Amino acid sequence: MKSKKKHEKTRLGFFSLTCCEGCELAVLELNRDFVKALGFVEILESRMLREKNPPQELDIAFVEGSIVGKDDLEKAQKIRERSRFLVAMGACATIAGIPGIRNALPEKIKSALPQRAVKKPLEAVHKLSDFVKVDFELQGCAINEKEFLKVLVQFHNGFFPRLENVPVCKECKEKENPCLLLEGKACLGPASYAGCNALCPSQKAQCIGCRGFTKDANFSALKRLFKEFGLTEGETKNIFTYFNPDPFAEASNARQ
Ligand code: SF4
Ligand code: SF4
Ligand code: SF4
Repeated sequence: MKSKKKHEKTRLGFFSLTCCEGCELAVLELNRDFVKALGFVEILESRMLREKNPPQELDIAFVEGSIVGKDDLEKAQKIRERSRFLVAMGACATIAGIPGIRNALPEKIKSALPQRAVKKPLEAVHKLSDFVKVDFELQGCAINEKEFLKVLVQFHNGFFPRLENVPVCKECKEKENPCLLLEGKACLGPASYAGCNALCPSQKAQCIGCRGFTKDANFSALKRLFKEFGLTEGETKNIFTYFNPDPFAEASNARQ
């Protein structure tokens, strides 16, 4: 694939698999900053912006949504083939997110769910990296638009962005929020990637892990603590699996 010359605009495409399209919407919410970015990027494909060009090589493909059916899978593979970099955008794409809730449900409930909207559904809901190479993951439900812009500028300037293995608690402490765990509330901040500026705990709501779990998260300690708070196993599982695969499921890959 031909690489971009320094003075050339970065060619982008935005694509949606199974999702609510809220992550692309978050990008549009950048408003003036996004218009400024148009000075160095060219958007070749975006359903929301009504940009539709014949499929061609892209510098960066931003893909939101989970792989739920074969159509999603084929679409993701075709996008990968013609993109220099592929960025998974949002919880649906990075950790299977909301569509992936289905994976942790008991078989009886799962089979009762209506399937008519999904063409050729797969056995389980998948994150993008289960099937295609992903160069960077923008976390969150929805993504943080400022983070999107930062990553876009880094790619444009030839730098490879990096996700820091830091939990939400770090940002929460920096904001001097009172800790919800001390109030007996089951917060997943210690296990979830930072980058949202501790959005939920700053509003007194528990973190439910929409940015994915950090590599060294101590799930057993949190599970013990939640039990002390009076939560049943089922309630704890529901909290852990709202966005993420069950960390206690066999091989930790309930969603794979
Ligand atoms: S991550 Fe959240 S906001 Fe983004 S597409 Fe999925 S459900 Fe929508
Ligand atoms: S409220 Fe949640 S995110 Fe904030 S410090 Fe406590 S556990 Fe961490
Ligand atoms: S606090 Fe947790 S659930 Fe809320 S936005 Fe941040 S990572 Fe997502």
